[in-house]
Amino acid sequence: MGGKFKSNLNFKIIIRSFIIVFIVFSLSSIFVYRQTAKKFHSNVTKEIRLESQLVNKDISDIFEKNKIILNTIEANEDIRIYLKEVTTRKDITTNILYKKIIKTFNNIIELNDGIDNIWIANEQANFYLDAHNNIDYKNYDIYKRPWRDLAANSTDVILTDTYTEYSNSKQVVSIVKAFREDSNIIGYMGININLEKIPKIMKNYIVGKKGMNFLINKNKEYIYSYVGDSQYDIDFKNELIDSISSIDNNCQEYKKIIYMNDTYYIYYKEIVLNNWGIIQLISEKDIDQDIREFLKIILIVFSIAATLLLLTIIFEGVSYKFNENKLKVQARTDSLTGSNNRSYFMELAVNEFNLAKKQNRQFNVLMLDIDYFKSVNDNYGHRIGDMVLENMARLSVKSLGKNAIFGRIGGEEFAAIIMDIGEMEAFIAAEDLRTKISEMDIDTHKGRISINVSIGLTSMKKNDLHLKDIIERADEAMYEAKKSGRNKVKIK
Ligand code: GH3
Ligand code: MG
Ligand code: MG
Repeated sequence: MGGKFKSNLNFKIIIRSFIIVFIVFSLSSIFVYRQTAKKFHSNVTKEIRLESQLVNKDISDIFEKNKIILNTIEANEDIRIYLKEVTTRKDITTNILYKKIIKTFNNIIELNDGIDNIWIANEQANFYLDAHNNIDYKNYDIYKRPWRDLAANSTDVILTDTYTEYSNSKQVVSIVKAFREDSNIIGYMGININLEKIPKIMKNYIVGKKGMNFLINKNKEYIYSYVGDSQYDIDFKNELIDSISSIDNNCQEYKKIIYMNDTYYIYYKEIVLNNWGIIQLISEKDIDQDIREFLKIILIVFSIAATLLLLTIIFEGVSYKFNENKLKVQARTDSLTGSNNRSYFMELAVNEFNLAKKQNRQFNVLMLDIDYFKSVNDNYGHRIGDMVLENMARLSVKSLGKNAIFGRIGGEEFAAIIMDIGEMEAFIAAEDLRTKISEMDIDTHKGRISINVSIGLTSMKKNDLHLKDIIERADEAMYEAKKSGRNKVKIK
């Protein structure tokens, strides 16, 4: 009865859900990827710019700090007097201020981290003297010192490039100033800066795992580089030097260069004091690596969400179908007897009638009405009347078999359609049913009840154009059965 739902509906829901989830998943993945990549690139470029400014500031700070110290040395009267008094090399250590000056230098070094040495030099006497007690006057030639011309021509401090220190052959950078009196130079003072700090600073401000920092002098020669885990070579360095010529000195804009199939983001910032510069760069691969790691997590979260969504949709779909089927069955079924209700019986009857017409098949209609049913209600009550109806319907379905369509079409009126058998065979089936009903005992708490039915039977004739005609004829046959004494099957 009514079991025509196809199980492929659930499959359709699953496929549809799958497609929707897949599309949503793909689109949102692309969206997230794009947004993430954008964000990472802008974060990294922002970060490099900031780091670049910081490294610049830290290195500049070292110079600025030593510039201040140099000014305090310049103001020291003892040093001035000493430089003026020592006019020949033999006076260097014999001068009364000699020890005092070395002590002053050492005090300054002790108080200020990052100073490698403090020294003074006298052009006139051509000597050199430093905090570590190094005095040289044999081979010393002030005109060969790398700071001499710069300092002599500047009234401010000057900063040298890296050079080899006279006393200890160390690579140093000196911040130097000429002592002047009435615009005459009476000597030079210098602070050798401990350059070990600079690579540390550059390392601190590396961006990403493979970021690089290069320190270059004003002639665009490399002084230091910190290159993380990356490899670089001379060609690469030349490429960098070329590229920074077109970069904004204030580090506002980065430049991209491609070297050996890898793209690098480059920033350049000049150190104002001495026109050195910091080149800071990161490879795009490094940024992409971070993006990939981030996306991996996103993808896992997304996949879980998508799977859950899919399962929810499938579950919702299945339970929706289940409920829909249940509602359909309810709408087609008579709640008391469980048989097809009037409207669904008529729907099925029309289908079968059309089929019979089209395929030239036999078509029989049975109308059943319980005899004196009113008296069952009157004598036993409505409840027991209902029980009788239930029993009668169950027996009828069973007796007529699977090939018949059975339904309750009114209060105690039922109908059946039997296809593919002749009128006589249908009559036998109806007789059989009638007999079974009349022999059926229904046990109730008010005693045993038995009932009879009157059945009208008719089969489709050639000139039957509408189902309605056949049903009316079956009805008439049923009334004839009633009129002629009930508990009978009548054919019309
Ligand atoms: P007849 O032999 O002429 O058919 O007599 P009858 O009493 O069966 O005829 P009638 O059509 O006058 O009475 C039908 C009765 O069926 C009336 C109504 O109370 C009863 N009936 C209809 N539907 C139901 C139902 O759902 N439950 C119960 N208990 N009784 C019903
Ligand atoms: Mg009736
Ligand atoms: Mg009746």
